[in-house]
Order: sequence, then C-alpha cells, then structure tokens
Amino acid sequence: MSSPLEDAAHAVAHGRCVIASTGAGISAESGIPTFRGDSGIWKKYPPEKFATIQAYLANPLEVWGFWVEIGREMAACKPNAAHVAIAEMESQKHLHAVVTQNVDSLHQTAGSQRVIEYHGNVRRLVCTRCRHQEPVDLTNPPKLPPHCPCGIVMRPDIVMFGEYIPEGPMHEAAALAEKCDVMIIVGTSAQVYPAADLPFIAKQHGAFIIESNIEETDFTSEITDAFLCGAAGETLPSLAKRVRELS
Ligand SMILES: [Zn+2]
Repeated sequence: MSSPLEDAAHAVAHGRCVIASTGAGISAESGIPTFRGDSGIWKKYPPEKFATIQAYLANPLEVWGFWVEIGREMAACKPNAAHVAIAEMESQKHLHAVVTQNVDSLHQTAGSQRVIEYHGNVRRLVCTRCRHQEPVDLTNPPKLPPHCPCGIVMRPDIVMFGEYIPEGPMHEAAALAEKCDVMIIVGTSAQVYPAADLPFIAKQHGAFIIESNIEETDFTSEITDAFLCGAAGETLPSLAKRVRELS
C-alpha cells in the first residue's frame, strides 16, 4: 500500500546517495531557541546590533556576551529522536551526509559523522585574518573574546547578517545536492536563501524529495514527492525504522 511514509522509506532504502537538509525546525524540537519569527531571538536582539561583523568589531564585549549566552543555551539542549534517526540511517549506510543550517552541533552530538555546516557553529571561533579555528568551551566561556595567535580578536564562526556562506560548505552542499538521488528536507521552509536552493537543485537533477515539516511549505506543492507531516521527532524515527525493515 502506498503512503508518503512507505514511498519515502522505499526511496531511502534503495537510494544510492541520500542527503538530509535540516533547518531550525529540527532543533526547535530540542528546545533550541529560534532566531526568526515572532518569538524569535531577533525580535529581542536586533541582528544589526548583535549579528553583523561591523557590530562585533565596534562593540566586541556586548556582542561576544550575546553569542556566549546563545551558545550556552544551545549547549544545554540535547539531540532529539530526529537527530538520532538521521545519525542511525548514516551509520547503517542509508544516508550519505547532512547539510544543516543549524549552528548548535546537535547532529554531531547525536552521532552524525558527515555534517556540512552551512551557517557555521557556535562552539567554534575563527580568526578573520588567518582563518585559524579554535573550539570554545561554552560551559566555561572566556569573559572576553579570545585573540588569535596572529594577534587579532577572534569571532564566533557563525555566518552573520550580510555575510556569504563560506566557500567550502557552499560548494560541498551544492555538489551533494546535484549528486544525490534522494533528499530529506527536515524542519526548514523555503525562506532562508541560499540554503533553500539545495532542494530545488536536487530536484532539477532528478532526486526524490522527502519533506518532514509540521506544516506545508513552498517546497510541498513545488517539489516534494513524499510529505511527512508532523514533528520530525516522530516522523523520522518511523522512517528510519521502516528503512531498516526494508533492507
Ligand atoms: Zn589569526
């Protein structure tokens, strides 16, 4: 009998290259604060004051404090059943990689190995001059933004407003979108560009599109082949279970 879950499970079980593309929705189910929307962080902390490189350089103490606070909230959250299901499908060789817009490390914590971070990671610092990277301990963060061995102040390795996606993740994600034959969209709508391009690129190259969202999005009518409606923490474990049964 055909159902969206059944269609999706068959596509994943028989897929040659299956990619997940995840956004804020999957992390929201872990209690990660969301940035956009009426109750989002940007309503309280205007991004022009807290999420541009100009603001950071002009006012590093305040902006550093903001990111440390966000990072601590994120570090207190745990992966949910959707993150675990994605990691499990990868460990069973049914899933090739995860491209995520999230900066919270929850995929890695759940055990995912190949994670392409489209918007960076709040647990990492980067030097704006020499690109040197360092992890930051969010349970005991430094009071001041640390300096790079090369001498200048480091910044959170986060794609801020007005900045481009770093070339490495950008190219890797685009190449995977072209190559995959199944893409699983999880917890993201077609609002955030250029991340929202990836499913369209995949579709143009013939991929089967699975979408897990709590409500329909612009993807649903345009490109989605199997729509799994509901919380990802429920639909993805069901998908992973059915894929396991089929293989
Ligand atoms: Zn440096």
